[in-house]
Amino acid sequence: MAFTSLAERDPIMVDLAKQVAAKLTGTCESGPEVIIDRYFEAQAGAEDNPSFLHEFDRIIFCCTVCEYWFDQNQNANPGYDHDNPWMCRECKRDE
Ligand SMILES: [Zn+2]
Repeated sequence: MAFTSLAERDPIMVDLAKQVAAKLTGTCESGPEVIIDRYFEAQAGAEDNPSFLHEFDRIIFCCTVCEYWFDQNQNANPGYDHDNPWMCRECKRDE
């Protein structure tokens, strides 16, 4: 069986994740459900969809210190674990 990418299997959720991430970046909203409720009402509950979450976490993260949302390329601790929670470069520098 040929490998199919997530985008091919679930294009609606992948596209939604990109759009939600774009609206969240630079804000300190509590989570994607806030943005989905506000702008994507027809997709209510999508924040629990595994395809959505996978794509969303690949694009964006919430800094555990300042609690703002950043593009993953700003993540000073991209390999998530308990000792190195996701953190933006600014907060990492002030650590
Ligand atoms: Zn931060």
